[in-house]
Parts: sequence; structure tokens; C-alpha cells
Amino acid sequence: MKTRSPLGGQRLMEIYQQLHEALGPSHWWPAESPLEVIIGAVLAQNTAWSNAEKAIAVLASNNLIPKPSEAEGSAVSPQEAGKALLETPEEALGELIRPAGFFRQKARRLHAVLSFFEESCAFDVPELANSRRHSTSELRASLLRLEGVGPETADSILLYALKRPSFVVDACTMRILGRHSLLPSAPTYENVRRMLMDSLPQETALYNEFHALFVRAAKEWCRKKAPLCSACPLGKKLWAWQNTFELPGMNIQLTPLF
Ligand code: SF4
Repeated sequence: MKTRSPLGGQRLMEIYQQLHEALGPSHWWPAESPLEVIIGAVLAQNTAWSNAEKAIAVLASNNLIPKPSEAEGSAVSPQEAGKALLETPEEALGELIRPAGFFRQKARRLHAVLSFFEESCAFDVPELANSRRHSTSELRASLLRLEGVGPETADSILLYALKRPSFVVDACTMRILGRHSLLPSAPTYENVRRMLMDSLPQETALYNEFHALFVRAAKEWCRKKAPLCSACPLGKKLWAWQNTFELPGMNIQLTPLF
């Protein structure tokens, strides 16, 4: 069932435009290749991105991350990096990615995800991304069947590595939408994703940038405790959309949309 609301779509686009105007383009995901995005999506689970970055740096120094150019030494192809990662025993891989936390679990998950990309496209991720043989929903279902791959990881891989229009819903997205009364009545991950995708044009570039802007706005202004609404570019909207519903933790009233 579609949850599209022209009014909701309009408000969402206003939020997008205001955040984009204030913060500028995000250029996400910060990686040199789609395979690095995939590895990063697993390493970033339940930890700060800075910890995932440290683990990626260790992998890169061991030639286990694709290097597209020879600028900093010899190039490493996605096929070479992917195979080498799969050949690295789980325990040794865990030690390498220790800075990302939950390192034994993540080593196992990395092997599961990399095995999928070896079998489905021999690590040629752009080829899989452009393949018409695999719909986005089929790819999503396949990713969700892998050990330790939940919806946020699957959608991050789909959006940022495979360039498919699949909105990534994270805690920052939930927080901002919730505080602006833009969540559906049952705000599960799947319902919020469906609401966003039904309300917005299905465009990879838009979803990519919108998710990045939500994360940056949450870091800058929309903090878990004590949001900085007076400094936030969405502050005026918050007051303009006032009326009936109390926001959790905030003495502000808003009108619900869904
Ligand atoms: S800081 Fe305030 S105005 Fe900004 S997104 Fe959060 S709730 Fe909205």
C-alpha cells in the first residue's frame, strides 16, 4: 500500500532544500571504490564512522582494500582485494579490523557479504549495479538473507555501492522526521523507508544526498539531547508547522502528516 502524501513530499523536499542550502553537497560515501563502500557498510555497524575508518586504513595498508590508482604505491583491483579478504582467515581478519569493534562478528559478516559479491559478480560491483537481470528488490532480499545484514546495511550497500534508489533510514533520519512529526503512525524501519520512497521521487542521487544531510544535520544541530533548533536551518519550519502534537523531549507542538 502506498503511503505517498503530496503534502508530505513537499515538506520533505523543503527540508532537503534547506539543509542542502545550509550544509552544501555531502559527496557521500567517502570511499574510492564500490567494494570499499560495501566493506565500510559492514565495519560501520554499531560504531562511529571514525572507528570504521581506522579499520579500513589497516586493511588498506595490508592491500586488502581496492586502490584504483598507483598514486600511493601499486594499484589493487577489487578482484584482488576481495579474494585476498576472503582468503584471510576469520581470526586474522578480526584482528585487522579490531578498531571497528565487534571484530570477530564483523569478520564473519564481511566474509558472508564478500562471498555474495564474489558469487554474484566476481567483485565487479558496477557490473552488478548496472545489470537489468537483478531488480533492486531482489538484490535487497538477497542482502537481507546474509548473516548480520539488516535493512540499514543492505540499503547503504544498495544506495552507495550499487547506486540503486533505496533510502537508508538511520537513527538521525528517525530523530529529525520524528521531531518534525513526519513519521508514520507505526515508525518501523520498513514503514519509514516506504513512506520516504512513496513521498519522494525515486532518484538515487536524491536519496544519497538526503540521507547524508540528515546525518550531518543531526550531528550539527539535531542532537539526541538538547537540539539546537534556534541555530538550525529547519528551526523556522518547526515553528511554522506548529499545533497539535507534543514532540518527545521538546516543548513544541506540531501537526502530524500521516
Ligand atoms: S534541531 Fe530542531 S529544527 Fe533542527 S532538525 Fe532538529 S528539531 Fe528540527
